[in-house]
Amino acid sequence: MGSLATEAMRSFDENFKRVGEEIARAAEKAGRDPREVSLLAATKTVPVETIRYALSQGLFHIGENRVQELLDKYGALEREACDLQFIGRLQTNKVKYLIGKVSCIQSVDSVKLAREIARLSAAQGLVTKVLVQVNIGREEQKGGVDPDALYGFIDQIREFPGISVNGLMAIPPVCDKETVLSGYFSAMRKYYVDIAAKKLDNVNMHSLSMGMSSDFPLAVACGATMVRVGSSLFGARQYV
Ligand SMILES: *Cc1c(COP(=O)(O)O)cnc(C)c1O
Repeated sequence: MGSLATEAMRSFDENFKRVGEEIARAAEKAGRDPREVSLLAATKTVPVETIRYALSQGLFHIGENRVQELLDKYGALEREACDLQFIGRLQTNKVKYLIGKVSCIQSVDSVKLAREIARLSAAQGLVTKVLVQVNIGREEQKGGVDPDALYGFIDQIREFPGISVNGLMAIPPVCDKETVLSGYFSAMRKYYVDIAAKKLDNVNMHSLSMGMSSDFPLAVACGATMVRVGSSLFGARQYV
């Protein structure tokens, strides 16, 4: 094994420990049970050897955000005990590559996309979990359902066989003001709790996926049940 790989593994060990501690600390400070929060590693650009090593150290949930990259890594990952999810922007014509390979698609933000995931899953006798991505900052360039359309959207897609609505996901606007950011996270938590309280058929609010390297402790403090962390686990991404 090359020294570069060894180095990546050593820093992963430290980072994994630190991220786990930060999640636990943030949860406890907010009076939450740290076990309510799962860590999903965002593994874009991370080589499969490093991912495999991370899984051997106790990481379980991993998320890829590009279809092609996921397919390139899939052969090496399918034999691993891990939970593979899709977290990136998804075009309807690429859904076919993901069904049966990922447990959850976190980035559902159009009826057309939900319908295609449902259709292809049902055709294989599968149920794919989906999270509804919410454009909580109402940013023009960003994916996600507009918050005002959220309840209607969920009502529409929850009827589809082949999918199970399992929660919400958000990527709030880049912002270094903690009060503004916690406003977005708290708004997400409120939608999550409100929707859960409706007890709709085929809607189970199991996952509130929010918080990345720069802000995951705050997201946990505001009620995230899953954080998606990349660079804080694997170091700065190297695009080749
Ligand atoms: C890359 C990525 C993350 C993690 O980003 P970091 O800032 O490196 O932690 C989280 N969510 C999505 C959708 C991503 O693409």
